[in-house]
Amino acid sequence: MVKERARILVVGGGYVGMYTALRLQRKLKQELKRGEAEITVVTPDPYMTYQPFLPEAAAGAISPRHVVVPLRRVLDGCQIVIGEVRSIDHAKRTATLSTLATEEEGAGPEPLTYDELVLAPGSISRTLPIPGLADHGIGFKSVEEAIGLRNHVIEQMDIASSTRDPAIRDAALTFVFVGGGFAGVEALGELEDMARYAARYYHNIQPEDMKWILVEASDRILPEVGEEMGRYTVTELRRRNIDVRLHTRLDSCTDRVAQLSDGSRFPTRTVVWTAGVKPHPLVAATDLPLNGRGRLKCTPQLTVDGATHAWAAGDAAAVPDVTADEPDATTAPNAQHAVRQAKVLGDNIAHALRGEPLETYAHKYVGSVASLGLHKGVAHVYGRKLKGYPAWFMHRVYHLSRVPTYNRKARVLAEWTLSGLFKREIVSLGSLEHPRAEFELAAGGKPPTDPFSDPKGSS
Ligand SMILES: Cc1cc2nc3c(=O)[nH]c(=O)nc-3n(C[C@H](O)[C@H](O)[C@H](O)COP(=O)(O)OP(=O)(O)OC[C@H]3O[C@@H](n4cnc5c(N)ncnc54)[C@H](O)[C@@H]3O)c2cc1C
Repeated sequence: MVKERARILVVGGGYVGMYTALRLQRKLKQELKRGEAEITVVTPDPYMTYQPFLPEAAAGAISPRHVVVPLRRVLDGCQIVIGEVRSIDHAKRTATLSTLATEEEGAGPEPLTYDELVLAPGSISRTLPIPGLADHGIGFKSVEEAIGLRNHVIEQMDIASSTRDPAIRDAALTFVFVGGGFAGVEALGELEDMARYAARYYHNIQPEDMKWILVEASDRILPEVGEEMGRYTVTELRRRNIDVRLHTRLDSCTDRVAQLSDGSRFPTRTVVWTAGVKPHPLVAATDLPLNGRGRLKCTPQLTVDGATHAWAAGDAAAVPDVTADEPDATTAPNAQHAVRQAKVLGDNIAHALRGEPLETYAHKYVGSVASLGLHKGVAHVYGRKLKGYPAWFMHRVYHLSRVPTYNRKARVLAEWTLSGLFKREIVSLGSLEHPRAEFELAAGGKPPTDPFSDPKGSS
């Protein structure tokens, strides 16, 4: 029984936001029924994205709708508000919020008051001021980016196949990925594999005609699977003719030329930026304490340090890693921690409302699995190292067990089974990004611009 009516505001509908709200709606079932508690989830999209499936969505192995979880269906005990929190004055227990309606009305962000705050806006791509990057680059964090990239790669193959200009063909068939972490390696591995397969349906493109380049500033890739498996991944990618460049940075990508720090230049129409993440800027628009890296300072109980009634977890939060030997270690920004933190966070809010003692978050990282394309993978989990098909199979089994809801599990499994029986999808539906284009042209409007090209028209 909670002491008084509690209005819980959850900011973000990703891993932490969705799982915390899910836990709360179970734990506070009676209180919600009696109107003693109320949970509001504010998030820009009506779905949670299962990010580990984005590379497979880009490869066409899973359809985009099955990579996302509909929040309204899963969180039927919560109020879902589609919008963005712009700032938070926690001293006044007030968030300012903009929604499609506030934008339509031109009224500006509106205030929303709460009693308990769960701040989980996640992270955004950590970019650098590299000339041309903002104009030509694309990230790999959302389902829109993954599908946009898939369409773009197939479109480049169509361009290369139909042009008579060797320079255009060469640039179209050159794909540069910057950042050798999870997102970059998996996205490149899956897309290269898809493009290699698709090439057999082009009369004039051979897999060897394509250049796939992975640029990594440090001396290793995939640190999540350890040094030995990281080295194996480099060898495996190079065996597939992928140009892995360690100790190398992207210096510029203006005029559709990727200029690298080792002096090489690659004319290209594709630069994918996956060089790490940083906390969402919303956390800086609050009166809550941040650490040196801009993450919310948290306690091992997942409260925001020094603030009462404020909670945080996931990519935006610096949660002390109580299992580490170093005293200042914080948990890494990954789903493994985010899901587990959300469970403790939900329980702790229920404990706090009932005047019970809080639990401490403690989880030792168990390692990772990564897919490098169909039937190819690498894993280092619970001390066991796996390569190739067994690692890929483990990747699928693990993520199938993790993707939320039985509904999604069944759909993903059905898709994998069907794609095992039939041939892979190689169609590009890039025109979905411009549904009005044909009608606009018919009505005398301008043709749409390529979202990957320079908006200023310098290329
Ligand atoms: C391609 C890719 C593959 C990955 N693979 C793995 C993997 O295999 N294993 C693993 O452990 N981790 C993986 N990760 C990392 C993992 O997905 C993240 O660590 C995890 O999503 C973090 O959870 P979160 O809740 O903090 O943030 P998110 O899940 O990103 O959720 C943040 C939410 O906040 C919302 N939001 C943003 N701004 C606002 C605002 N102003 N107001 C309201 N809501 C807002 C966002 O729309 C989103 O819904 C991968 C990440 C990527 C990009």
